[in-house]
Amino acid sequence: MIPGVPDEACIRCGVCCIALRVKLPDGTYKPEGMPCPYLIPRTEEKPASCKIYDQRPQACELFFCMDLLPL
Ligand code: SF4
Ligand code: SF4
Repeated sequence: MIPGVPDEACIRCGVCCIALRVKLPDGTYKPEGMPCPYLIPRTEEKPASCKIYDQRPQACELFFCMDLLPL
């Protein structure tokens, strides 16, 4: 799963890791609309994943997918 939603609700599309502004562990910010440098994008064979999932920022951990629904 990518951040903040139950496994069964997350289709691991990776959109949240592109859409959101996130403060990264090195103190820089990933801007809105740019793929996170830690995102492993979804392919036809594999769902999206995070290279630092166990150390992901709190914003990622607390993210709820419903936040993206209005987009
Ligand atoms: S946008 Fe939602 S469904 Fe897609 S990876 Fe993020 S949490 Fe999962
Ligand atoms: S740190 Fe991981 S979970 Fe957070 S936006 Fe980047 S790829 Fe997604």
